[in-house]
Amino acid sequence: MKKIIIAIDGFSSCGKSTMAKELALETGYIYVDTGAMYRAVSLFCIQKGLMSETEINELELEKQIKFIRIEFKTNASGISETYLNGKNVETEIRTLEVANGASRVSTLGFVRRELVRQQQLMGLQKGIVMDGRDIGTVVFPNAELKIFLTASPEIRAKRRFDEMILKGEETNYENVLANVKERDDRDQNRTESPLRKATDAIEIDNSALTLDEQRNILRTLFAEKTL
Ligand code: C5P
Repeated sequence: MKKIIIAIDGFSSCGKSTMAKELALETGYIYVDTGAMYRAVSLFCIQKGLMSETEINELELEKQIKFIRIEFKTNASGISETYLNGKNVETEIRTLEVANGASRVSTLGFVRRELVRQQQLMGLQKGIVMDGRDIGTVVFPNAELKIFLTASPEIRAKRRFDEMILKGEETNYENVLANVKERDDRDQNRTESPLRKATDAIEIDNSALTLDEQRNILRTLFAEKTL
């Protein structure tokens, strides 16, 4: 069967990674969570004191960007985890603070260029499912299958809120909704690679879809593209 590149883009918290991970598992493809890469850069900035509430020390970050090594390793349960300079940071990068920082560092051209370069290298052999905001438009404009996933901000915030409560995190729905809207706004309105649906992407609004319905749509699309 021919190997393809699958690009899954869309707004934050609309289930891109769940969808992408499952598809990768079913097809035996490699899964790459590019959001985790921007989150790792954000965590790096927080740890090194390069990011305050209002500013990022761009000059210093640009000097240090080549020393930021991001890798994905599969754990004993078969789950891919993010490593920053050799340390497992999978849990640390999932906080709201790091997410917010990720959407700020992702507006910087030199950060995007470096991460896009690394992502393109990961896709050289094809057989990859990559999720993010600019995969179908910038990273792999020639990807054989492009999905653009959407859902209403309220539904996305509710899903994210439920997830956080399950993990025992202290949060409230209004904060999560505000965070979702703030990130949407930044993702869509930045000058560097704003979030856009590629003209040849297939849009799926999953606000009212069950996971099973979504899975079936994807399986059909994958089968069509790999015939
Ligand atoms: O997908 P996730 O929420 O983990 O992404 C974190 C942040 O990284 C997003 O809010 C977005 O601003 C940024 N991002 C990006 N381009 C990507 C993936 C993520 O700008 N390809």
